[in-house]
Amino acid sequence: MQSENPTSHKGGRTLPEGEALLSVRNLKKVYHTDAGDIEAVRNLTFDLGRGELVCLVGPSGSGKTTLLKCIAGLMGSTEGEVLLDGQKVTGPPKKMAVVFQEYGRSLFPWLRVVENVELPLKNAGVPKEERKRLVQEALEAVGLDHVPKSYPWQLSGGMQQRVAIARAVAYQPEVLLMDEPFAAVDAQTRADLEDLIRSVWKKLGVTVLFVTHDIDESIYLGERVIILSSSPTIVQEDIVIDLPAERDQLETRSLPRFTELRHHVYGEIQKAKQGHRPEEAITMVVK
Ligand code: ADP
Ligand code: MG
Repeated sequence: MQSENPTSHKGGRTLPEGEALLSVRNLKKVYHTDAGDIEAVRNLTFDLGRGELVCLVGPSGSGKTTLLKCIAGLMGSTEGEVLLDGQKVTGPPKKMAVVFQEYGRSLFPWLRVVENVELPLKNAGVPKEERKRLVQEALEAVGLDHVPKSYPWQLSGGMQQRVAIARAVAYQPEVLLMDEPFAAVDAQTRADLEDLIRSVWKKLGVTVLFVTHDIDESIYLGERVIILSSSPTIVQEDIVIDLPAERDQLETRSLPRFTELRHHVYGEIQKAKQGHRPEEAITMVVK
C-alpha cells in the first residue's frame, strides 16, 4: 500500500515559459451589480500543459463557472489574463469547446442529433464530406451512432449530455472545458460518462479542464486536481493523482490510495474554509 503524501503544490502549478497550452494568470473577477460588488474570483494562477487531463474542484459559489467563462473568452476578467498558446484570450478561441451542465439548454431541440453535432463544424466552414466523417466518429466515440436521426427531446438526460460531448469532440478542440457536466444525470449514467471522458481524452489527446464540486469525481477522473478555496477564491493546492492510468469504477475507487487522496483533498477544502490559505498563492505576481 502506498502511503506517501500526494505530490502537491501550494497554489497553482505553473510551467516554464512557452511550455503551457493554457495559462491563467492572476485572474480576478468582480461582478458589479445593483446590490454592490461581488468578488467571484480573487486571484487564480495555474497552467495546463498540452494533453493534460486536469480536474478543478471547489465548493459551490467558489467561482468555477466564472473561471470557465473567462477561460472560454465568454466574459472578460477584472484583472489578470488567460493565455492560449501564448496568445491572450479576448473572445471565444477557435480551438476551444465547452460542455456545460445544462445539456437541455445547450442543444437545439429542432435539430436532429446529427445536425446538432454538425453545426459548429458547418459554422467553421468544414467541407461536407469531412463534416460527415467527424460527426460519425464523434457519435461512435460516445456510443450514439444508432440514434443520428433522433431529436434531443427524444433522448434521456444522459444521452443528451453525450450529444453535447460528441458535438465538442467532433469540433476537434485543442482544449475541452467542462463545467459540472454530469451534475444532473443519475449515478450509473454519470459513472459511464466519466469513463467516456477518460477514453475520449486518451483517444484524442485533447487537453481537458473538468470542473466539478464532487471530490470523488475529481480524483477518479483527473491526472491532476486543482483545489479551489471557498470565497474569496484562490488556488488552495494543486495535486498529482498517482492512480493507475487504467481506471475502473469499482476497483479504482476501492484502492487505498484513492481513499488517501480523497482524505487529502477533503482536508484541504476544510482548511480553506477555516482560512488556512497558502500565502504564496495570494501574493504571487507573475508578469
Ligand atoms: P460556482 O460555479 O463555483 O458555483 P459561480 O462562478 O457560479 O460559482 O459564482 C461565484 C460567485 O459569483 C457567486 O457568489 C455567484 O453568486 C456570483 N455570480 C456568478 N455569476 C454572477 C453574475 N452574472 N452576476 C453577479 N454575480 C454572479
Ligand atoms: Mg458553477
